[in-house]
Amino acid sequence: MKKGQLIIISGPSGVGKGTIIQELLKLVPNLHLAISATTRKPRKNETNKNDYYFLSDVEFSTRIEKGDFLEWVIFQDHKYGTLTSEVTKWVQKGHNVILEIDTKGAKKVQDLEEFSHELVSIFIMPPTFEDLYNRLHGRQTNLKEDIDSRLHMAGKELAAIGQYGYIVVNKSVSDAANEIISIIEKE
Ligand code: 5GP
Repeated sequence: MKKGQLIIISGPSGVGKGTIIQELLKLVPNLHLAISATTRKPRKNETNKNDYYFLSDVEFSTRIEKGDFLEWVIFQDHKYGTLTSEVTKWVQKGHNVILEIDTKGAKKVQDLEEFSHELVSIFIMPPTFEDLYNRLHGRQTNLKEDIDSRLHMAGKELAAIGQYGYIVVNKSVSDAANEIISIIEKE
């Protein structure tokens, strides 16, 4: 059977990746999201196994030692990683899987021989930097230092857009989702 595609979606924190991905999951059949593991604490609206596998530092390190991760990184003092099992369970059935990961993790996946033929990489941009600032402040779940640090990281992430096959500007959720659907269909 033909393997499914791996669709990497990156973009600065607050750009609206999560909302766009939820829209894609509603619209596209046989498309799944790989639930990542993280050591950061859940936000108010987040639940274990739906948004992330929330692990302690020790649990995360054990999973690293067991070789359970396709890739993992440290982002803002916390570990984040894609579990290989989250990808293979769908890809082997010929279904497509979204990886919502940072630019460093994306580079690691792009360097893997195993998935090089089935990889689509998309970077989501905010219409303006001001827009990103307003969204991060509107979230209200982040502390001020956290927002500052995420804005700082956003600058770094933007510097990595050259490694992506496609760039999509999030002017509206439905336009961005439709643009991504045409990319997936084309690939
Ligand atoms: P947040 O704390 O806002 O949920 O995520 C922070 C950053 O970590 C985002 O850029 C997000 O894409 C990235 N991220 C989430 N899960 C993973 C993962 O499994 N691997 C990598 N490399 N980055 C991740």
